Amino acid sequence: MPDSSNSSFRVGILGAGLSGLSCARHLHSAGAAVRVFEASDDVGGRVRTDLVDGFRLDRGFQVLQTAYPEARRVLDYDALRLKPFAPGALVRTGDALQPMADPWRAPSKVLGTLCNGIGTLRDRWKLAGLRRHVTATQAADLWAADDEPTDTHLRKTLGFSDDLVDRFFRPWFAGVFLEPGLETSSRFFEFTFSMFATGDASLPEEGMQAIPRQLASGLPDGAVEFGSPVEGIDGSTIVLPNGRRETFDAVVVATEAPAARRLLGETLDVTASRSTTCLYFAAEKAPLDDPMLVLNGDGDGPVNNCCVPSNVAASYAPAGAALVSVSVVGTPPAPVAQLEDAVRSQLRGWFGQAVNDWRCLATYTIPHALPAQPAGRPDGRSREVRFAPGVYVCGDHRHTASINGAMLSGRDAATALLDDLATETD
Ligand SMILES: Cc1cc2nc3c(=O)[nH]c(=O)nc-3n(C[C@H](O)[C@H](O)[C@H](O)COP(=O)(O)OP(=O)(O)OC[C@H]3O[C@@H](n4cnc5c(N)ncnc54)[C@H](O)[C@@H]3O)c2cc1C
Repeated sequence: MPDSSNSSFRVGILGAGLSGLSCARHLHSAGAAVRVFEASDDVGGRVRTDLVDGFRLDRGFQVLQTAYPEARRVLDYDALRLKPFAPGALVRTGDALQPMADPWRAPSKVLGTLCNGIGTLRDRWKLAGLRRHVTATQAADLWAADDEPTDTHLRKTLGFSDDLVDRFFRPWFAGVFLEPGLETSSRFFEFTFSMFATGDASLPEEGMQAIPRQLASGLPDGAVEFGSPVEGIDGSTIVLPNGRRETFDAVVVATEAPAARRLLGETLDVTASRSTTCLYFAAEKAPLDDPMLVLNGDGDGPVNNCCVPSNVAASYAPAGAALVSVSVVGTPPAPVAQLEDAVRSQLRGWFGQAVNDWRCLATYTIPHALPAQPAGRPDGRSREVRFAPGVYVCGDHRHTASINGAMLSGRDAATALLDDLATETD
């Protein structure tokens, strides 16, 4: 890679999340001198991992879909040592955990899935049709389809039974969209469904933060300045604490949507924030053996989904212990201690009295976890990254609310900036 510190074109990037780091990598490999200003103490933004008593705690449960096109293009999966979840899910309904497997990828579970009592045989036929459709259709065509709320799409347009939607699709996609009403765009639903159908949901051996760390490792030493919250932008000058000002040829705002709005003003179109709360527990013994997601199919209680990350990647827990991750959609109104009590009480019903002995390691409440992706946005999956002359913007709010979207928006902003530069110098 060229040493960008010698380059004459200087770009200041605000934010060292996936979008800012992706943007920085593309610009750096094109020869620009990049400086990334990050308010916090490390790279990753919403993709951070804390080490607590030998457990790896991602700041909010999340997974990398190996089928994500931009992630495949940019990341070195082998170096991440990805560990896959088993395809499908276990649905907690009534008194049982019912398998809901993908028959194409987990044939041994077909019988259990057919007999699990969730939905109808017609639903199984329709699921196969949906799978065929999303795997045979180019992503661009999925995004060009008519758009409507996912709930309407599933019940009315695709004709799934209320039972299958309520007990399977709702908890599954409430955990992805971080909203239980499934108001999110059906285009995004079909894109995400295709990712689940064609790749693995996976965890890097060293935790999700290994992803931004890998991106940052492609930048020159010292390119990211930590503990540098940008307070304002004045053209292509950025204003840092204590009145420090740094002027660049161009700036890229790669912060989360609410921070981008504070910096760029009300004309930046952003959507509402979707929030979530994640609780981690240390257990002496894993409450289940499978490396699978467990969905709350009954819709009661605070828990939307849970899993045992250490069943997927043993490195998530020290020897002789298991890590349990519990996701609640939204931010709970009650104090965190009350939420923990309610979660324990619900999980006692699922996994028995052993839950009493679990030790709560951390609770992460994330008010802005995702930007909402309502149906019917005219600009579909990608939005303008040029904000003003010399000022660009990227982040998951410019593309899809996902790891893939954040990385792609970083590429889009870098491409727009380099195109503008080429036009100016023509
Ligand atoms: C709990 C949770 C679960 C998720 N699950 C999944 C999943 O399973 N699959 C998936 O694909 N996606 C998932 N996502 C979404 C995905 O993590 C995000 O879409 C993506 O990480 C966003 O990256 P970003 O670069 O756009 O923003 P961010 O990661 O938010 O990065 C913005 C950066 O800007 C910095 N910053 C803010 N203000 C300033 C300032 N004034 N000056 C300097 N720096 C500033 C912030 O500190 C931050 O580091 C999940 C997100 C969360 C929170």
